[in-house]
Amino acid sequence: MSGLLARYAAVAGEDVIEQLRGLARPLAGLRVVHVNSTRVGGGVAEILVKLVPFLAELGLRATWEVIEGDERFYACTKLFHNALQGFPLTPTAAQLAVYERTNRDNAESLRPALRDADVVVIHDPQPAYLRECVPERRGRWVWRCHIDLSHPHRPVWRYLLPRVAGFDASIFSLPDFVQRLPHPCYLIPPSIDPLSAKNIELEPAEIAAVRERFGLDPARYLVTQVSRFDRFKDPLGVVRAYRLAKLHVPGLQLVLAGGEAADDPEGAEVLREVQTAVGDDPDVRILLLPADAHRTINALQRASDLILQKSTREGFGLTVTEGLWKGKPVIGGNVGGIRLQVHDHQTGFLVDTPEGAALRIRYLLSHPRIRERMGERARAFVQEHYLLTRHLVEYLALFHCLLKGRAQRIEVG
Ligand code: UDP
Repeated sequence: MSGLLARYAAVAGEDVIEQLRGLARPLAGLRVVHVNSTRVGGGVAEILVKLVPFLAELGLRATWEVIEGDERFYACTKLFHNALQGFPLTPTAAQLAVYERTNRDNAESLRPALRDADVVVIHDPQPAYLRECVPERRGRWVWRCHIDLSHPHRPVWRYLLPRVAGFDASIFSLPDFVQRLPHPCYLIPPSIDPLSAKNIELEPAEIAAVRERFGLDPARYLVTQVSRFDRFKDPLGVVRAYRLAKLHVPGLQLVLAGGEAADDPEGAEVLREVQTAVGDDPDVRILLLPADAHRTINALQRASDLILQKSTREGFGLTVTEGLWKGKPVIGGNVGGIRLQVHDHQTGFLVDTPEGAALRIRYLLSHPRIRERMGERARAFVQEHYLLTRHLVEYLALFHCLLKGRAQRIEVG
């Protein structure tokens, strides 16, 4: 067993690694290309940076390509993102032309890789038009939707539907998001890497140093939300929940840790709104961290008494998984992928309003024993369902289905 596989065996169990090796053996040399629109920032990049090298370690020829565009392209794809998650926004014909042209331009440079791949996995809408730009493709193409597609704004979905319908399969994170499509749809929720800088165990001294660096008082309670500054993450709702909870929890501290995703043009505006709402409150830290500040985020999550993720739409919410893995109850918005992970009184609480979030903050902070027990359950829940190794097993099984047909028996081992 390679060093990497042995390290994961220690966390995820020998049996999972054996299963992975068995599934991967018949797929040795398979050319798999993942395509998304940013190498840093946001959950998709966070997943691919681990998934792709692991697939390569298992013997597949896996690569990761990133499409590039200008501001107008990202403005259009952000509009897609917002509209597909329910905002009533419709792109103009000129915006759609930019979207299609950018995909065509990227297809030129990616053509050899895309044409020769056995499996192409296209992440989210940004590169979804690529498929039409590579008519000579020979592999199977899969659309992997990471966003909450439960109530898309219809005009935008009507535009995207014919693009997506041409794929051989789609992957969604949960059943609520699945749309009517003329091909097989699979459910594969995301995962976290337990051995990454973001999730690895840290020494208490390192956590204490990060607390000190940001002027956080270890003697007072701390709640944290880690998220891009995006309206769907509801940072203003978090500030309101903190204010309400603080009326009953004197000295409560709040960290809002964010940063930019290269493909998210709206962040600066949302950040300004949050700064205005926070004003000069000395107990709130708005942290703009570089994209590679994984250990810092790890330490902040561990330094917190509980984690917030008060999204109003959420494809999955890796920040929730990260918090749970660190043994922290999560108070999360009652939406999308958060509902897969947060279970009332078990791993945290689902909330619909800032007022609800404030009540749950008060409850958890005043019941340390309950908080601790929920934290233990939270970690065990992630161990069982949301580690990278489970994600890989499901991807490999999907590749078998795509290439060999669902009727065929897959020999593992
Ligand atoms: N993240 C980060 N720095 C930040 C904000 C977020 O590294 O300033 C990470 C976060 O830890 C998580 C990912 O980016 O791993 C966000 O994934 P999630 O699914 O929560 O949300 P998305 O941004 O994809 O909507």
